[in-house]
Amino acid sequence: MTAQTESVISQFDVIAASDPQVAEIIRLEQQRQDDTLELIASENHTSPAVMAATGSCMTNKYCEGYVGKRYYSGCALYDDVERLAIERVTKLFGCKYANVQPHSGANANTAAFVATLEPGDTFSSIVLSEGGHLTHGSPVNISGKWFKPVHYPLVYDQARDDFGHIDYDAVLEVCKQHKPKLLICGYSAYPRTIDFAKFREAADSCGAVLMADIAHIAGLVAAGVHPSPFPHCDIVTTTTHKTLRGPRGGLIMTNDEELSKKIDRAVFPGIQGGPLMHVVAAKAVAFGEALNPGFKTYCQKIVTNAAALAKALMDLGYTLTSRGTDNHLMVMDFRKSHPDLTGKIAALWLEQAGIITSKSTIPQDDRSPFQTSGVRLGTPALTTRGLGEADMAVVADLIHRVISSGGDETQLAQILEEVRSVAQRFPMPH
Ligand SMILES: *Cc1c(COP(=O)(O)O)cnc(C)c1O
Repeated sequence: MTAQTESVISQFDVIAASDPQVAEIIRLEQQRQDDTLELIASENHTSPAVMAATGSCMTNKYCEGYVGKRYYSGCALYDDVERLAIERVTKLFGCKYANVQPHSGANANTAAFVATLEPGDTFSSIVLSEGGHLTHGSPVNISGKWFKPVHYPLVYDQARDDFGHIDYDAVLEVCKQHKPKLLICGYSAYPRTIDFAKFREAADSCGAVLMADIAHIAGLVAAGVHPSPFPHCDIVTTTTHKTLRGPRGGLIMTNDEELSKKIDRAVFPGIQGGPLMHVVAAKAVAFGEALNPGFKTYCQKIVTNAAALAKALMDLGYTLTSRGTDNHLMVMDFRKSHPDLTGKIAALWLEQAGIITSKSTIPQDDRSPFQTSGVRLGTPALTTRGLGEADMAVVADLIHRVISSGGDETQLAQILEEVRSVAQRFPMPH
């Protein structure tokens, strides 16, 4: 039994004594996580220390305001923990200012918009269906309802017959033509390295504020296995729960004092009330973990595992967008290998076999975001559990057998058993 399972069990005892119904749901969820292979690129398994801080007494306190400037009494220890989180994260990313209060990545982005734009202002980003994020101008999100997005396209690469790469010339063109006040780079389904210096050139051509949303790659950036958005970008937003392996939450960083003041005002009182201080404490724990040398090794393994998984899948005849990956994620494009298969169905079959993924639109997808022609895979969670490069060939083979089964229930049930035995060889972090 791992320490994590033990600590969860002692938490169960406390919850079960007062609420057996919720305790049972949590117990089953722990079992689900233990028995399945987690390949959702935006998920991870946090340490027991991060979970314990999230479950601590620090959930009880109101701390509206910032360090040394709170609206309520009794905040001294909360100042200590927020200061610690800020000190650690600015060291981790090599920047001057950080706001650790955003409740989520979406809130971090909304705050960055509020800090830099007026309603109706133009900004530029990649569209959701090509790997961007809901908060980068989707018509159903505040970013698209209250502000005006102009999207820069991906480039067609004839040699690879692929639309998977950022078209830096087009970014520059869009900036010259539309003069956005804010230019966003950073994505949810982009498997390649981002050239922040090229984005700086484009932003400078029209005087735009340059924002990197490194929600997915934050851990890789912190570990130095993806180039840093600093000093090129003015604002850097991120989640803390993806490759960074902290509690669910958001974070905003900058080197510009004026911008940092605007960002602080935008987070509170602009869009949020009291910060989630138990989560801020857990962020401090996670940033401390990320400053340990072991975190760099972990992130290097995420990337080598992703490269191994991508190669194994391509060797099996699958097409990946951009024809591979540089980071932690890849997107399978079924249009050539399985023209009738949607991402929705593939993800469903995979789930029936205990392999957890997310359907994903691919560049130039003619299917809706509810169907899609692709599935996105990532290696952060499997790497946390200790799977290595050799295991990636096994995972690719399991995926291949699921897709080849055509959804046959008997075959899926057999693969589920194998997945469970692979998963059980790699216990949760402890
Ligand atoms: C995940 C993600 C977010 C949003 O994070 P939430 O915590 O879910 O709100 C924002 N931007 C990008 C690029 C993301 O991938």
